[in-house]
Amino acid sequence: MKVSNDSHIETLAIHAGQSPDPTTGAIMTPIYQTSTYVQQGPGVHKGFEYARTRNPTRDALEANLAALEGANYGLCFSSGCGAMTTLMLLYGAGDHFVVCDDVYGGTYRLFTKILSRLGMEFSFVDMSDPANVEKAITPKTKLIWMESPTNPLLTLIDIKKMVALAKSKSSGDRRIHTLVDSTFMSPILQQPIRMGADFVLQSTTKYIGGHSDVIGGFVGCSDKSLYEALQFNQKSIGATPGPMDCFLTLRGTKTLPVRMARHSENGQKIAEWLEKHPKIERVSYPGLKSHPQHSLAKEQMKGFGGMVTFVVKGGLPASRALLEKVKIFACAESLGGVESLIEHPAIMTHASVPKEIREKVGIVDGLIRISVGIEHIDDLIQDLEQALK
Ligand SMILES: *Cc1c(COP(=O)(O)O)cnc(C)c1O
Repeated sequence: MKVSNDSHIETLAIHAGQSPDPTTGAIMTPIYQTSTYVQQGPGVHKGFEYARTRNPTRDALEANLAALEGANYGLCFSSGCGAMTTLMLLYGAGDHFVVCDDVYGGTYRLFTKILSRLGMEFSFVDMSDPANVEKAITPKTKLIWMESPTNPLLTLIDIKKMVALAKSKSSGDRRIHTLVDSTFMSPILQQPIRMGADFVLQSTTKYIGGHSDVIGGFVGCSDKSLYEALQFNQKSIGATPGPMDCFLTLRGTKTLPVRMARHSENGQKIAEWLEKHPKIERVSYPGLKSHPQHSLAKEQMKGFGGMVTFVVKGGLPASRALLEKVKIFACAESLGGVESLIEHPAIMTHASVPKEIREKVGIVDGLIRISVGIEHIDDLIQDLEQALK
């Protein structure tokens, strides 16, 4: 089946990049579990030489995700971190990067503990105000790294404004690229490439895979030379996913639009319920009118997703008790699966961020992050109610 890229996203999710297997007509792209491909003669082959470079199952997933993002090209990786590392190695010693300050903990660790050893320099700034980014840009700045909404505080970054800023500071050979880690939204709720970003990055482990059974990463871009450089890095560095992982992820994309709709619906209801609860100090969710960037959220996102962050009254003892008492919500890191998860950023996902920086950005000890799944809303609310009691 051939779909055009202007089909609706629900149709693209199921059909883009997929065609019946040429050998058997199998409707699902098979798991091409092979490391190499037989050549008819030296250098005479069907486009596949060695599976680190290309694999048909991976090709199908890459084309599918690129179509969902509205990007001309897409590349898949063995994890979100593998995607980030491969992308960052497009740059080198002496290059400077402006990064949002409450970036995903693993991103922060990669940048400050590994890539800084290679001579790359990072400035972490509050990007809710574009003026901070403008101030941080130096003649060596190569990339503005955004995450929107941020993790775990769900602060938004105005993507179009950042893209315009990067363009205004670029001239001739000097280019400042823009990247959005859009993991919390998936391509269903936010499409940074369509807003002018050079790169979109996804941890496909989260919403895209959606079933908590596979680790993966993705980068989409529309510029041919950037794509070719990244593809060269992909095969040279080798953080590539196996065909089984690609198959599972591809199975996830088919239901992504339906799942995101339910995640957003449940997320909104829980956020509104929490906001009225006497034991809750405050709630952060882009779909709430009380979110300081609610109007930006309505403008750049197509829905508000399933991530909700809140502060429980009573600090660490109270937040710890809540995590111990829930029955349906599972206490676990990660997010974006069909099942609801609850976690404590200061102890779990963001423990690699030093305490003084955590507190500066607002990751206090009473802060809890939930990934609202697609269970029945009444059961989820009842579970939080009994645990808060
Ligand atoms: C999980 C995550 C990553 C890293 O992805 P992995 O697949 O775990 O390597 C990057 N960014 C965000 C926002 C994430 O949630």
